[in-house]
Amino acid sequence: MGLQTLRAKWIIPVDGRPIEGGSVSLQGGRILAIGEGVRADTVDLGEVAIVPGFVNAHTHLEFSALPAPLSPGLPFTGWLRRVIQYRREHPTVVREAIQTGLKESVAGGTTLIGDIATSGWTPQDYEGAASKGPRVVVFQELLGLSPERIEPLCALAETHLGDDPAGPIARRMLSPHAPYSVHPQVLDHTISLTAPHRGRTLAMHLAETASERELLETGSGEFRDFLQDMGVWQPDLFGGRSYGDILESLGDLPRGLIVHGNDLRDKELMRLAQFPHLTTVYCPRTHAAFGHPPHPWLTLLSLGGTVAIGTDSRASNPDLSMWNELQFLAERFPDVPHHTLLKLGTWAGATALGLRSDCGSLTPGKRADFAIIELRDPAFRDPNFDLFAPGNRVIGTMIGGEWAVDPTTR
Ligand SMILES: [Zn+2]
Repeated sequence: MGLQTLRAKWIIPVDGRPIEGGSVSLQGGRILAIGEGVRADTVDLGEVAIVPGFVNAHTHLEFSALPAPLSPGLPFTGWLRRVIQYRREHPTVVREAIQTGLKESVAGGTTLIGDIATSGWTPQDYEGAASKGPRVVVFQELLGLSPERIEPLCALAETHLGDDPAGPIARRMLSPHAPYSVHPQVLDHTISLTAPHRGRTLAMHLAETASERELLETGSGEFRDFLQDMGVWQPDLFGGRSYGDILESLGDLPRGLIVHGNDLRDKELMRLAQFPHLTTVYCPRTHAAFGHPPHPWLTLLSLGGTVAIGTDSRASNPDLSMWNELQFLAERFPDVPHHTLLKLGTWAGATALGLRSDCGSLTPGKRADFAIIELRDPAFRDPNFDLFAPGNRVIGTMIGGEWAVDPTTR
């Protein structure tokens, strides 16, 4: 790939101030320079902003074939029952769903995804759109509470980490699903497999609902009924546990994703903020669809904690567009500068997934992963405050120096 220069009304590097009337030069799939000069062979993209490609820090691509969310209006465990039922009824749609999800992600400007993969997937499921699809950090999901599941799950974890990443799979990591669905010994083992390696990260759903806390602390409530109905209730595993203890264990990791964290309280947030290598992944539209109490992301940020953004899956969200997710946040939280939202949707996600040295900002040497935003909202004045204005939209996505969605051929 030869030298190429793109000019835009705004260049928003994220790790520096926005540049008006700037350009980005790229070569060999990487960013060569960011600047204000314009060369003769420059491609002028017009009234657009070039921003780093979005990083979707949390999704489950396996559900991308769902035409609509699975009744998130249900109580949380009711929704979980629907998810389990869907998985049983659709064991063969994984590849088609992943491919659909990758395409939808690219259309929304996403260039890197943290995907939770259950059993039954193969690396080929992520290929096909490989040369023009987002890169994916595949977290092998580990699910199982019974003592008999400990050994096979630990073996699965080791096998997954032992295989080399290839093609669009940028990294292979582990996801012990949640405190209510994975045996504590499996959690401990995955932490021991992840902790000694600087490049590794781990993702765990945590503190999604108040009933999860009730189960951990008292061993009772809606979740106990759910586990009993599923035939997987383990009385010895619940009661007397706390999020605080789990956070201390995860604190040993070089990096980790706390997925959701909806129900974390002040004391837990203060402790979490002392582990800036643990990123809390807020999934705004999924959070809203369940009608949870307000998410503590702004408190966590104010305490110095780390927050990234995810779409979660189509089982709880109408689409996988990070652009739509960030516009939703901009509308709901008008006091938060758009530059902050952009940073959470790019830099913070790349950091959480262990790829910040490679992407997440427009920095010379990093991959040429861009989203192109058409600035057609009449109210647009300043990208720090108006980038996610309702009339703006994604019109292009570049991944590793190649257009996945080409804004010049519309
Ligand atoms: Zn999830």
